[in-house]
Amino acid sequence: MDLNILNTSLPSPIQELDLTASSLFSKSFRERDIRIFLKRDDLLGLEVQGTSRAFCGNKWRKLKYNLLEAAQSGHSTLLTFGGAFSNHIAAVAAAGQQFGFQTIGIIRGEQVKPLNPTLAYAKSCGMQLAFVTRSTYREKHTEAFQDSLSRKYGTFYPIPEGGTNALALKGAAELPSEIIQQLGFQPNAICVCCGTGGTLAGIIQGLEGRCHAIGYSVLKGDFMSAEVAKWLQSSQQNISGNWQIRTEVHHGGYAKYTSSLIDFINQFKLDFNIQLDPIYTGKLMYALAQEAEHFPKGSSIVAIHSGGLQGIAGFNERFGGLIKT
Ligand SMILES: *Cc1c(COP(=O)(O)O)cnc(C)c1O
Repeated sequence: MDLNILNTSLPSPIQELDLTASSLFSKSFRERDIRIFLKRDDLLGLEVQGTSRAFCGNKWRKLKYNLLEAAQSGHSTLLTFGGAFSNHIAAVAAAGQQFGFQTIGIIRGEQVKPLNPTLAYAKSCGMQLAFVTRSTYREKHTEAFQDSLSRKYGTFYPIPEGGTNALALKGAAELPSEIIQQLGFQPNAICVCCGTGGTLAGIIQGLEGRCHAIGYSVLKGDFMSAEVAKWLQSSQQNISGNWQIRTEVHHGGYAKYTSSLIDFINQFKLDFNIQLDPIYTGKLMYALAQEAEHFPKGSSIVAIHSGGLQGIAGFNERFGGLIKT
């Protein structure tokens, strides 16, 4: 597999938001002379006819070196894990199709028919889906379960749930230098939403202390700092760097929403012509828009649009077309 083919969509565009064009960002942003840039990683990868990009965003960054490693180590099959609406499952399925890997997705929970848009898409990319109960799914890291997978599927390149491993961090670690080069200056902060925390950990790694990194946890609870520290530690990084996690920006928890979040996402689309998703990037931008006072006057802030738009179809199906596309 050729790195050049993977890299044809780099660098993803970076664009400044015209904050005068929107009432979503409080007056304080303008009064304090704060600029916000959006790093459009949602535009990474190939456009797929008739569907939202699936191999894109932070999943593109996280899979990049895993795909190369799988190819270099002679693997023809990728096996991974995820929930029924997972952006990661869709990304692995799409990447497998584009680069000629067989793909197997171990899906949490009973199969529901007809398949939801995420799983129907994964299947259409050729992914073999295997549904396991929630209790079996929790055992996925045990040796017994791994052995049963090997017996069933033979040799495969395993990718963890959410795609986070050392090679995923290596891919995300390329973001800061790409951003600084595009801007021509160092921003004050890079902001990204966190699920496993792997993307933030990679960004911290790649920043090497050049500016502040802020993670916005889309899950309820205050375990995210410890998760990020764990990922940094496991890649031999100094964990004490210049970073922090914002909690209480989750709108009720993972895949939960409030009507103000939905209104924000729909208005953001009208004001900036940029689609956000309700699970991840909508929560990031919603929180950021309330935070002018957190940043020094004259700051430049870069928010990562980490993709996730494939999830909107399934969200709309479940909750009645809330997100306008
Ligand atoms: C998976 C995902 C995340 C979370 O990334 P982590 O590395 O697990 O923290 C953020 N944004 C989008 C759009 C995602 O699909």
